[in-house]
Amino acid sequence: MVLHIPTLLVVSVFVFFLMGLLTLHAWYRETREPSLAYLGGMMLLGALGVVLVSWRDRGADFIPILFGNVVLLLSAAFNWTAMRTLVGRKPCLPGILAGCVIWLLMCLIPAFYHSMPNRVLVYSLLAFGYGVLTTLELWRSRHSLDVAFMPALLLTVSHTVFYAVRSATDDGLPVTKALLGNGEGVPFFSFMLFESMLYVIGIAYITLAMVKERAELKLRAAAFSDPLTGIGNRRAFMLHATHLLDDSQQRAEPAALLLCDLDHFKRLNDTYGHPVGDQALIAFSGVLMDSLREEDVFGRIGGEEFACLLGACNEPTALEIAERVRHAFARLSILEPGLLSVSIGVVTTHESGYDLSRLLSEADQALYGAKHQGRNRVQTLRSLYLGLA
Ligand code: GH3
Ligand code: MG
Ligand code: MG
Repeated sequence: MVLHIPTLLVVSVFVFFLMGLLTLHAWYRETREPSLAYLGGMMLLGALGVVLVSWRDRGADFIPILFGNVVLLLSAAFNWTAMRTLVGRKPCLPGILAGCVIWLLMCLIPAFYHSMPNRVLVYSLLAFGYGVLTTLELWRSRHSLDVAFMPALLLTVSHTVFYAVRSATDDGLPVTKALLGNGEGVPFFSFMLFESMLYVIGIAYITLAMVKERAELKLRAAAFSDPLTGIGNRRAFMLHATHLLDDSQQRAEPAALLLCDLDHFKRLNDTYGHPVGDQALIAFSGVLMDSLREEDVFGRIGGEEFACLLGACNEPTALEIAERVRHAFARLSILEPGLLSVSIGVVTTHESGYDLSRLLSEADQALYGAKHQGRNRVQTLRSLYLGLA
């Protein structure tokens, strides 16, 4: 089937233009991710490029040959830059301009300028080159990318393969002949326009999805982390601790909860200032990060209160870890010795069960006991009841 080329040309210009405007709108209104701006630019340049290369037989062939192709190559370079910025790299200006410069230099050679097959070959190779660069950007960031990039990679690979095939097979068809309708080369020409429309629509949709996914991940991370210390907040602790408790119960393993409250923190703030208090909170988070295992769950659940849930942990081990945390905090050199201390209430699932709110409330009682006994100590609920503290 031969698609009607004048219709395809008009449709592609409008599709590129509309998609470009919508993509720029999404960039401006929502995330301001540069990749969307470059992608929108790529589409608007694509629309302009198609108009310019169709500007044939009006006594100014340099317009399609020089400007038309330069604009289309810039459009391909913007597509590469969109993926480059999406994976977190800076735009590369020499790379963006390289395609246009090579094209303009080639056009200085009359044999090239006047040969349609040569022009099609070089244009296709340059477009192929940008396609390879775009693919490489995605491929080399495949392990670090936090979003689903596979559809973008597959689409870009097929678009690039198309230009490789074109550079090997297409001798070129003057637009005037293509417009006449059904001669040799027309199916390829129409397929080329069709393919670029599908690519533009596909890549816009996929990139927008990736940008949205990333924005959502950022929001989620912000909603679950404590801005001062960077560790999990109360919401994160409650969620992850509930999961860990469920797993522990299923495996019939004990778990222990440590509730830590920094001692005389108000006094510390009043004496040394709020920023020093903040430093102490950050330092205590560091102590927890260093003292606990990766599979343990911990978070800042209140002003100067931290909770830690240790999986596969019985009371003696929990006490050992709690003492390690207490000593490590007291040894910190950010303030004179004796000024930093923490009280820790410890309970285990053995006596308190696997319900998080009960564990928290009983750990709070143990903590209250520790404060009552003079602070800077580790206290279990059991020893509190037995009067062993
Ligand atoms: P205790 O030994 O009984 O726990 O006494 P405390 O002074 O530590 O406890 P209190 O509950 O009276 O005071 C807690 C203080 O923690 C009060 C509050 O100003 C301070 N605080 C809470 N959040 C922050 C924070 O983000 N930064 C700083 N610097 N201080 C905070
Ligand atoms: Mg407190
Ligand atoms: Mg306190």
